[in-house]
Amino acid sequence: AAPIRLDGVSKVYDGDVVAVENLSLDITAGELVALVGPSGCGKSTVLRMINRLLEPSGGAIHVGDRDVMATDPVLLRRTIGYVIQHVGLFPHQTISANVGTVPRLLGWSKRRVADRVAELLELVGLDVETFGERYPHQLSGGQRQRVGVARALAADPVVLLMDEPFSAVDPIARGRLQEEFLRLQADVGKTIVFVTHDVDEAIRLGDKIAVLSQHATLEQYGTPAQILAE
Ligand code: ADP
Ligand code: ADP
Repeated sequence: AAPIRLDGVSKVYDGDVVAVENLSLDITAGELVALVGPSGCGKSTVLRMINRLLEPSGGAIHVGDRDVMATDPVLLRRTIGYVIQHVGLFPHQTISANVGTVPRLLGWSKRRVADRVAELLELVGLDVETFGERYPHQLSGGQRQRVGVARALAADPVVLLMDEPFSAVDPIARGRLQEEFLRLQADVGKTIVFVTHDVDEAIRLGDKIAVLSQHATLEQYGTPAQILAE
């Protein structure tokens, strides 16, 4: 696991939309941090700058001792796993092929990819015998979300970023998925940053919570107990 550090980070979109203004945030290695705040306050923008899906307009971001802006995006992909709300599985590929995307890109042998895929599916509670040869549309929303997590973990990233990972999952499956996710976090010990607009979810899952308002202004940052006491 690696720490993540944002120093005076800004993002101005075309048309002068200030999404993030001078945000500084230190995330400790191995912690699960929830970014919480109203819709449009800049949460996704912050997350997407950490893996360089977006370029900051100013400031610096470090993941471990790596300066994100000075790192090859392909290399970043090995270091940073990314899970989005609707997962973005490749519809014409099987579950196994989807989970194996990054290891294949990295040139691992077929055997090693297959072993890793089985291990990862197991980790998120899906049996490779049952699910490996299915296609994404043959799974429930919650199952697809687990596949997304397995895929993001495939190359053993030091950091996992998740954008509203539970919001597309029906309410009954969501509670179970959250619990499995907490177990997973305890097992793999990654630094995880996840975005949510759901304060209860942030309190339930986060080691720390960063409460943001418009332009990703940091209003509060601390443990759930600290946030609730303020
Ligand atoms: P959140 O994730 O908190 O809902 P976002 O990071 O998605 O917030 O968006 C922050 C602000 O930036 C919003 O005002 C949004 O409309 C704007 N925004 C997001 N993406 C773009 C874009 N590609 N171009 C212009 N404005 C954008
Ligand atoms: P392709 O290279 O075929 O376009 P994708 O963009 O869908 O493949 O990415 C494959 C995997 O890499 C997915 O698990 C995705 O979450 C992850 N990924 C994509 N872009 C990034 C990024 N900038 N940083 C970290 N992981 C990424």
